[in-house]
Amino acid sequence: MHLKAVRDRIRALELQYQRPVGSVRLLAVSKACSVEQILAAAAGGQVDFGENYLQEAMTKISQLDSRHLTWHFIGPVQSNKTRSIAQHFSWVHSLDRTKIAVRLDRHRHTLSLPPLNVCIQVNLDGETTKSGIAPEKVMEFAAQFAQWPALKLRGLMSLPRPLSRLEDQRLQHRLMRRLFDSLVDAGYKLDTLSMGTSNDMEAAIAEGTTLVRIGTALFGKRPNRVDNID
Ligand SMILES: *Cc1c(COP(=O)(O)O)cnc(C)c1O
Repeated sequence: MHLKAVRDRIRALELQYQRPVGSVRLLAVSKACSVEQILAAAAGGQVDFGENYLQEAMTKISQLDSRHLTWHFIGPVQSNKTRSIAQHFSWVHSLDRTKIAVRLDRHRHTLSLPPLNVCIQVNLDGETTKSGIAPEKVMEFAAQFAQWPALKLRGLMSLPRPLSRLEDQRLQHRLMRRLFDSLVDAGYKLDTLSMGTSNDMEAAIAEGTTLVRIGTALFGKRPNRVDNID
């Protein structure tokens, strides 16, 4: 487990790109990790953990219940999973449909829990099969949050297609930053730009991310698996 190395790297990149120290939050993406690996990270002071698959996450969350960890759902949300997600997670980064927002809001309200923190997932690449909404639809979606008091809109999330060159990655992230700024300019009180993974952390920090979602660089390479099996 490379928690210290990842933290040091984030601090070094904050300095390199004139970002305030501590302005980039680390979300440890623990999909495919064991409870023991999560415990090791928690012992090192890591609090925020991200999971993609509900069944897998629920097993871990129930075993780690007493630890006061903060769980972030970052995978595609299916409507029949919204109740469990609203119950067991503090954050959803991957919100991209009105129907899902309505359901998460209703469940969170019924459970009498504090508002669920959410990010709107944006699809920059325009591939219709991918998760996320088109950049030009984001403003309209954000305006609907007034109807969902049990959801707290915190910002935007992206998972761009993998590119190898830093400059190309920075262009992708710059578009997200501009979109984020345009929402802030429109009056939305946002504090979270969830972008950057092991492969493009530098580009994301250079372009103003506030939260990086790191799996591989922390826990090592995951075994291959079929996606979205929930
Ligand atoms: C798996 C995953 C990550 C982490 O990716 P790594 O390359 O392992 O750092 C980040 N975000 C999402 C949405 C993911 O599914």
